[in-house]
Amino acid sequence: MSVGTPAVFLDRDGVLVDELGYLTRVADLRLFPGAGAAVRRIHALGYPVVVVTNQSAVARGMVSPAGLEEIHAELRAQLGREDARLAGLYMCPHHPEAPLPEWRQDCDCRKPRPGMLVRAARELGLALDERSVLVGDQHTDLECARRAGISALLVRTGKGQDTARTLSERGGVIGICDSVADVPDVLRAWAGRHSGVMT
Ligand SMILES: [Mg+2]
Ligand SMILES: [Zn+2]
Repeated sequence: MSVGTPAVFLDRDGVLVDELGYLTRVADLRLFPGAGAAVRRIHALGYPVVVVTNQSAVARGMVSPAGLEEIHAELRAQLGREDARLAGLYMCPHHPEAPLPEWRQDCDCRKPRPGMLVRAARELGLALDERSVLVGDQHTDLECARRAGISALLVRTGKGQDTARTLSERGGVIGICDSVADVPDVLRAWAGRHSGVMT
């Protein structure tokens, strides 16, 4: 059990916003219905909310770091209009076979490696133990949670339907949600069972 505050980590593509393959333009950013309210409610349950996203679009030269920052500023703005705030947003711009040499590296932050979670935990004082949860739509998200020592929650949006189909017997997830909109209720029930206190 580590020190720090239990947190909820959210994958971006396929969880908060549409999975477009590569999101490279601000104009294409679309929050899923209920995403803002979900972030607000997760925060109200006492969890700092941190986005962790693989963005090899940078390494592939499809979007510049500045362009990605613009997209993330818009993401925060759209969430803010629903009184939802992020405690942090971490992205991995790398890819081991990137065409752009400055981003070509076998980094420790590309999920399923847990580098982004480790960094967020250190910088924001978050707990990396089973009380924290990563919400994702792909096996790499679930594996990242496992490697970081935290719990995982699967959503069926994005690539989640396929992931759910190919999940092994118990799958190691605390639940499967139709979308991020259902995450607060699942977390609430789960945290209540988990800690033995009513939430
Ligand atoms: Mg995803
Ligand atoms: Zn990386």
